[in-house]
Amino acid sequence: LPRQRAAVPLVALDIGGTLIKLVYTASCGDGEEGGGAELRFAKFERRRLDECFQFVRAEGLLRCNGGRPSEGNISLKATGGGAYKFADDFREKLGVCLDKLDEMDSVVSGANFLLQNIPGAAFTHMNGKRKPVNVSPNNLFPYLLVNIGSGVSVLKVTGNRKFERVTGTHIGGGTMFGLAKLLTGCKSYDEFLQLSQKGDNFVLDLIVKDICGELVCQKQGLSTSTLAASFGKVITSKKKLTDYKPEDLAATLLSAFTYNIAQIAFLVASLLGLQRVFFGGSYIRGHKSTMENISYAIDFWSQSQMQAVFLRHEGYLGALGALMSYGD
Ligand code: ADP
Repeated sequence: LPRQRAAVPLVALDIGGTLIKLVYTASCGDGEEGGGAELRFAKFERRRLDECFQFVRAEGLLRCNGGRPSEGNISLKATGGGAYKFADDFREKLGVCLDKLDEMDSVVSGANFLLQNIPGAAFTHMNGKRKPVNVSPNNLFPYLLVNIGSGVSVLKVTGNRKFERVTGTHIGGGTMFGLAKLLTGCKSYDEFLQLSQKGDNFVLDLIVKDICGELVCQKQGLSTSTLAASFGKVITSKKKLTDYKPEDLAATLLSAFTYNIAQIAFLVASLLGLQRVFFGGSYIRGHKSTMENISYAIDFWSQSQMQAVFLRHEGYLGALGALMSYGD
């Protein structure tokens, strides 16, 4: 980051449906004179707004813009629906005013910032291998950005600040995690991901072979493990919910939602003639098998014509974009 930005911390927030994402700068190097600034990241559950307030106070982040909280003259850049909903809480409890920014604009700015300024920020994850993707301003645009948060937004990005929100789906990370809490009793998203890691989705998923038999599959050239219906085996089984292992339920949920979102991404990219699809949002959470499944699906349906690309700090795109707007 530019040196002049090092002296006072810059703070930006993205308050989404599930999580509050905070990005801020901190001095690094040899002090305020000659050092630069590094970016730091923190996240909080939206229902624990007080933890976010405590963190901001403890880190001394209210020194930003040289204001004093008591005078109410500090404003923080903030995006996400919660920036509107919780504006009064921020004013009353932290003494700061939220300067609200458009959510999609911020997500796109954050993605473009990462892609154009942070070497190694973009990578593919296929067949167990993580490979950096070199993007240059000449070959970056246009691309599809699929942001998987509580819901999913699909954007066509054609340049810096140039984009269109093409579509989205309400069946996203919030839906999956909500169902996961009900079905598996998991308490946190990380616990859910860990459970899924140990589970087997084929205990609950109906595959083509279950319907047609192996022989027909072979004759028709169908892969025997192709999913026919996620959770489809449950219908003909006598098992109750408690008879299923939470691990298997978690694996089935994660595969159902991940393939479905990847398929929507593929279909939209096909309609728009785009070859590169970047995935963001906290749903991905740097989780290897989520990225593997998305990559496999995009590669399979596009017959290797499209590429799924992931981003470091994928959950912080909106907050990063909001931070970048201090330079506007
Ligand atoms: P939003 O801006 O809507 O809050 P995010 O991009 O932050 O969206 O993604 C939220 C989704 O990410 C959740 O619905 C869930 O699927 C997943 N997730 C990742 N980490 C967590 C967490 N610590 N708590 C809850 N959900 C999480």
